[in-house]
Amino acid sequence: MAKTTKKFKTETKKLLDMMINSIYTHKEIFLRELISNASDAIDKRHYLSLTNQNIPTEDYEIKVEYNKDDRTITITDNGVGMTKEELENNLGTIAKSGSKEFLEQVENEKTPDVDIIGQFGVGFYSAFMVAKSVKVETKSATTGEAHVFTSEGLDSYTIDESDYDKYGSKITLYLRDNTEEENYDEYMDEYKIKELVKKYSDYVRYPIKTWVTKYEPKDDKDEDKDSEPKTHLELETINSMLPIWKKNKSEVTDEELNNFYKSKFNDWQDPISSIFVNVEGMLTYNALLFIPKKPFYDMYSDRSEKGLQLYTKGVFILDKCKDLIPDYLRFVKGLVDSADLPLNISREMLQEDKAIKKIAANVEKKILAELSRMLKNDREKYEEFFKDYGINLKFGVYENYGEKKDSIKDLIIMKSFNQDKLITFKEYVEAMPEGQNAIYYATGKDKDQVAKLPQMDLVKAKGYDVLLLSDDVDEFMIQMLKNYDEKEFKSVNNDDLGLVDEEKSKEIDALKEEKKDLLEAVKDAIPSAKSVVLSKKLVDAPCCVTAEGSLTFEMERVLKAQNHEVKADRVFELNPDHPVFTKLEALKTTDEEQFKKYVNILYTEALLQEGILPDDPKAFADSLTELLMK
Ligand code: ADP
Ligand code: MG
Repeated sequence: MAKTTKKFKTETKKLLDMMINSIYTHKEIFLRELISNASDAIDKRHYLSLTNQNIPTEDYEIKVEYNKDDRTITITDNGVGMTKEELENNLGTIAKSGSKEFLEQVENEKTPDVDIIGQFGVGFYSAFMVAKSVKVETKSATTGEAHVFTSEGLDSYTIDESDYDKYGSKITLYLRDNTEEENYDEYMDEYKIKELVKKYSDYVRYPIKTWVTKYEPKDDKDEDKDSEPKTHLELETINSMLPIWKKNKSEVTDEELNNFYKSKFNDWQDPISSIFVNVEGMLTYNALLFIPKKPFYDMYSDRSEKGLQLYTKGVFILDKCKDLIPDYLRFVKGLVDSADLPLNISREMLQEDKAIKKIAANVEKKILAELSRMLKNDREKYEEFFKDYGINLKFGVYENYGEKKDSIKDLIIMKSFNQDKLITFKEYVEAMPEGQNAIYYATGKDKDQVAKLPQMDLVKAKGYDVLLLSDDVDEFMIQMLKNYDEKEFKSVNNDDLGLVDEEKSKEIDALKEEKKDLLEAVKDAIPSAKSVVLSKKLVDAPCCVTAEGSLTFEMERVLKAQNHEVKADRVFELNPDHPVFTKLEALKTTDEEQFKKYVNILYTEALLQEGILPDDPKAFADSLTELLMK
């Protein structure tokens, strides 16, 4: 095979450019990234060797060495290695979502020099923060072929055959020249390397070795007391290798935990919560779970896969085990390490596996408990969390049954009309004045719009609070709940609110008979309405429109947006005490044509207040104009 030279794709070039010109102060994270890749590669090789006899195992290790004469640092692993295609796909292009997101972030903020550069797990490319060129020698454990990849800078890379004879990869970084501000030589130092490995990669499960200076004991007989002690170098393991999730929470500092999270899950911000789960007994496992500060950019895309990483006895098995986490908690990142699963378990078997089911149930419980704790102890943080992830919990309420639904529903917070802040259902109920026995909610663009709903008059007069719905899923969720603490949910927009007193109610019922003809005539004038009634909820407004049955206007809107052609049943409600009512009555006998037009105008206005546009805007406009000309 001849040597191939290829140009980096524009995207990759941009990232490289940024790395090379980075003034980021924590350039040191390059080592963490390369070690983490080495560890991943060993994971992969080990996993393959379990199922494929042709892939041998050996004592795994990661070596970090330097050569002051050449000004190089090398990181060697005996992992899975890469084939030519893999070199091209993995190092020649940005395949990784984290890097792409990083680019987008930086471009949006137009501040490529910000401190976030190194905090993103930009992986392999971070090598270019300290290196002017990089060489990767690698022998694939799957094909046995060896190649060398070199990139001298921005534009292109070459791949050639190689006689590299050990399975795995050796990455050589040719350090950049020192500048006034930056001394790259500092990385060619055993103490620096030890410090960085401790700081970032201590938990890596394979030995990370480097050459360590050993002092030889002084022989006091013949040597001059002041002479320098004799030294030699030994290759020594410098990380503790104990996975962080096997430790006790108390043994791990927040900083360690955050660093672990960021490098493992390619985030640049600390998580808002970390959850340790250690279970011993019939089923033994550890889990370490994180709630990212911000949802991952692809969380709501169809492509995004939920899941936790699965390890068994410390061996990496699967990147996204979806059976470990329910859909509504898909935003949680983390891993589970179990001692009770076979190493060669397949995806299909996982689905059926009883242990996995048990672990998943417990993981879910732990996450809900953590959220509940946050809601109770750190309200501000919780509200921040809810802004980004609340919608998932709402789906959780919608999708679940029984006890689980109960624990999720107490995590929901909604805007309160009276209190102008977010409250739980429980807080709503606790604040209910004597005599109130339903939970009221309303849909509308915002508080102001809801305040103007004609149906709000009575609710406001009583001083009852109203929950303001904000997400599309809200009303679906509430309809699934039906009630909370035995208090029925009632929609201000639609339901009979049961707020007029008995006397008034009877009066209206009696009037219904009397005004039967009028109501029928109104109904005839607006064929699209399901029915016309005398309202029991209006005070000042002449009329309103409500939805009958379980399909509400809000749901109609949501479903329409998803291309479902549905229409809520419209009920036109008239206020018999309003002068307009009397006017209509008069018109009905004197000018039927005019009567019909007025009814239509009123009806359309009522719909507009619910945010529903007229079917025929032109006709509506014409009628209004005509009215003005009179
Ligand atoms: P990430 O590790 O998040 O996937 P990187 O940029 O760090 O992103 O690495 C890109 C890819 O290159 C890896 O996914 C892996 O397939 C490959 N790779 C990097 N380093 C090694 C290595 N030492 N051995 C084998 N493959 C590697
Ligand atoms: Mg990586």
